[in-house]
Amino acid sequence: MRARPTPSDIPDDPASATPPTLLWLRRDLRLADHAALQAAIDRGGPVIPVFLFDPETEALGAAPKWRLGLSLADLAARLEAAGSRLILRRGPALESLRALIAETGARAVHWHRLYDPGSVARDSAVKAALKAEGIAAQSHAGHVLFEPWRVQTGQGGFFRVYTPFWNAVRGRDPGAPAPMPASLPSPGVWPASDRLAAWALGAEMNRGADVVSAHICVGESAARSRLDSFLATAIDGYKTRRDRPDLPATSRLSEHLTTGEISPRQVWEAGLRAMERGARGAEHFLKELVWRDFAWHLIHHTPHILLRNWRDEWDRFPWQDDPALAWKKGMTGVPMVDAGMRELYVTGSMHNRLRMLVASYLTKHMMVHWSVGMAWFAECLIDWDPASNAMGWQWAAGSGPDAAPFFRIFNPSLQAEKFDPEGTYRRRYLAGFQGSQEATALSFFKAVPEGWALTADTPYPTAPLVGLAEGRARALAAYQTHMKTKQTA
Ligand code: FAD
Repeated sequence: MRARPTPSDIPDDPASATPPTLLWLRRDLRLADHAALQAAIDRGGPVIPVFLFDPETEALGAAPKWRLGLSLADLAARLEAAGSRLILRRGPALESLRALIAETGARAVHWHRLYDPGSVARDSAVKAALKAEGIAAQSHAGHVLFEPWRVQTGQGGFFRVYTPFWNAVRGRDPGAPAPMPASLPSPGVWPASDRLAAWALGAEMNRGADVVSAHICVGESAARSRLDSFLATAIDGYKTRRDRPDLPATSRLSEHLTTGEISPRQVWEAGLRAMERGARGAEHFLKELVWRDFAWHLIHHTPHILLRNWRDEWDRFPWQDDPALAWKKGMTGVPMVDAGMRELYVTGSMHNRLRMLVASYLTKHMMVHWSVGMAWFAECLIDWDPASNAMGWQWAAGSGPDAAPFFRIFNPSLQAEKFDPEGTYRRRYLAGFQGSQEATALSFFKAVPEGWALTADTPYPTAPLVGLAEGRARALAAYQTHMKTKQTA
């Protein structure tokens, strides 16, 4: 006769027989198409989803940090609904992971790879330390369609120019997106978690949060709905209308892609299906999505793009290091530029055409260093992405790879005539423009810092801060001198 098992012989539930796995979430705040989550589940034990408020997260600008908090709240609710939890810890990543490993008995940590130098340094150190301690630390692809080292020129190097990059990937298959797992195995006992509210991720938004809230869209389901609605209504006209800020012509998926509420592969797959159905703008849409991959490709291969001129010769260009307050306040007196800067403050985003235009005005007409604009975008954009932001600024300034030549100086008046022909966009964001008192335009004054002392009654400049012809001539003269010194250097 078999002896009755004593309590200590009784196996725990099968899930807890295998030690837990930590799922370290970063820019991948979703449950579907999540390679790291799937790999954690495949290990067989409970999965503990974790987000760490580490120094890298601490360093985020006001708007992206606030937007991150909303995304975390959404993910936490989705996890709870699936019988799981989101564990929050504050402190350096390695320290926090070690503490969680000690508390839970976890033997593995999984995450998705990022490619900016700060993340690479942190993740490499974490991986090496955990592996040395016998923990299975494993990273996965998932933040881009094609990882930076998987796209190579014929000579085995990296791409500096977009079009050949696009040609190299356009026929490739990034793989089919995976569905959300059927179930999320949970531990019997959860480790303690910080309260999200205690992190006060929105503290630096001050008055802006209420205004920007009306324009954002948060979470995995919302991202999917936005993609579906774009496919149903706007993809056909995307190629011809995408440069029009007055029309709802683009996908507005960037805030979801940067938080990882949707994966690039899910977007690619949907775009590809649309192309197969004959949607006219679909290929162009895929092409734009690949610009995002190109930015991560560049930041991986040339991380200095974040910190200094991508082309060294631009170090000698006489850019000013000026805080550019009038530009930030939407008070340059150039309506199209000011409308763009106010859109940024009111919505936490800015149409791509305006990003190029305000960047051109700052770096060329005002001759202010692109890093001033890049830092301001990093502070204000809810879709802030280190790679696309750095690439966009260096492209606009002329100092980057595959950049717009410096002598191509956007004329804001002509741009307005072409892309905002009826003034709809300017009226939406610039109070007083053609008498506009639109609610979005007026809400700018509720969002701005009180220290700016700007109200709807503040007179709008009667002349541009830097005249269009005068600024253009000054920039071109500086460029010509720069080219001469470059040749003689
Ligand atoms: P759609 O036109 O619908 O495009 C679909 C997706 O493709 C976008 O969501 C985005 O992920 C990608 N994409 C499109 N255009 C670009 C581009 N030029 N570069 C890189 N990816 C692109 N994008 C960010 O996501 N974060 C940033 O911080 C950022 N900073 C920028 C700064 C400057 C100076 C410039 C010129 C561009 C910047 N961009 C940035 C790129 C671009 O402006 C935004 O991706 C785009 O406006 C997002 O709107 P959408 O989602 O409706 O784009």
